[in-house]
Amino acid sequence: MPAPKLEHTYASTVPTLSRAWTAQEWPDPELVVLNEPLAAELGLDAAWLRSDEGIAWLTGNGVPETTAQAYAGHQFGHFAGVLGDGRALLLGELPTSDGGRVDLHLKGSGRTPFSRGGDGLAALGPMLREYLVAEGMHALGIPTARALAVVSTGMTVQRERPLPGAVLCRVASSHLRIGTFQLAAALQENDTLRALTDHAIDRHHPSARDDADPALALLRSVATTQAQLVARWMLTGFVHGVMNTDNTTISGETIDYGPCAFMDTYDPHAVFSSIDRGGRYAYDQQPAIIRWNIARLAEALLPMMQGSSDQRVDAATEVVHCMAEIHQATFDAGLARKLGVAHIDADEREQFLTGLADARRDFTDAFPPRHGVNPIVIPRNHLVQESVDAAEEGDLAPFNELLAAVTRPWDEPEADRLKGPPPAGVGPFVSYCG
Ligand code: AMP
Ligand code: MG
Ligand code: MG
Repeated sequence: MPAPKLEHTYASTVPTLSRAWTAQEWPDPELVVLNEPLAAELGLDAAWLRSDEGIAWLTGNGVPETTAQAYAGHQFGHFAGVLGDGRALLLGELPTSDGGRVDLHLKGSGRTPFSRGGDGLAALGPMLREYLVAEGMHALGIPTARALAVVSTGMTVQRERPLPGAVLCRVASSHLRIGTFQLAAALQENDTLRALTDHAIDRHHPSARDDADPALALLRSVATTQAQLVARWMLTGFVHGVMNTDNTTISGETIDYGPCAFMDTYDPHAVFSSIDRGGRYAYDQQPAIIRWNIARLAEALLPMMQGSSDQRVDAATEVVHCMAEIHQATFDAGLARKLGVAHIDADEREQFLTGLADARRDFTDAFPPRHGVNPIVIPRNHLVQESVDAAEEGDLAPFNELLAAVTRPWDEPEADRLKGPPPAGVGPFVSYCG
């Protein structure tokens, strides 16, 4: 089979927001895990992906027209200027059977013009962790980037200790972020901002095209999908951990599984990231943070909106204000479903959640398993860590066992230890960037 044909509409639409760049070559690339069901969904030939040529392709080697995407962003509330793909590359866009396109994107593919002080590399453990969490999220029905493959590189990555290196190949409906718009706005390139806005509308929010004010309609649509996404995260106890504006998508999919985690014991203030010392991205802060991020998108989009500057600001402000209600309605409807009741009001919700917190209940197990609503298996920290540690030592059996379980979250797992809270004595989980 010849290499799949990829398109490059992002680079051709907004050329100033990407750089042509090639992936690093690796001493000894080896396929660690391939997502065969996803490959099949995408029309990719799994046998070819397992060949030497396919493995090289999965790390970007020999693939023409790969690019590093440029974007800006607010990190922990501070504008960080140009960020961009410092250890990632866009392989290209793969046409899908429904007439759409998905991004094939690498993580850990070597230094780029955006690497700053970083080495452009990724370690095997964190890439396998991202694989498990992304595929677990997908199985739970939460919009997310998917994991297609992890290839170990044969190269050592220096972190606190030397670690085996790897490249993750992931799939998302796109990697357009709030930060992409922030960069176009900061460059004051109105043509770029216009082209980016149209591209985002065509790709993700086509109903905005026919609105009297397409940019405002885009903002409203992104605000809605993101408010709903965060509610769905919270209904499974998920803490993203690094909700910077460069990690918030226009599509409404979850990306960038860095220091994220699912909570075991219900704690509204749960934080897992070692770098989030102020708890900015704690579990219960996520709805306010996504509103803050959407306000940054609104600022970037203002020049594209219709009306006087006062009218634009008023309209954008209203969109941001409406998000709290959208979030709460989505969360409450989901909580009612989890509890098996028709409706839950604000008092009942607060009483229930306070009860969980006071009793230090395990969040997942607080709800009786019901198919498609309350999972039995989620990618719990202690299991993810255990399987990733074993994989680093060359034993993939625990990873494969956990992957099988988290991708069938409604089914009784093969082994009892794959469900339920961690055994007593497992300390609080802390996640580091990888
Ligand atoms: P993140 O918080 O993972 O989204 O990363 C923020 C920024 O740092 C992005 O521009 C990344 O590409 C960049 N970055 C993270 N890790 C590395 C690395 N090891 N080498 C180069 N750039 C990196
Ligand atoms: Mg990122
Ligand atoms: Mg990251």
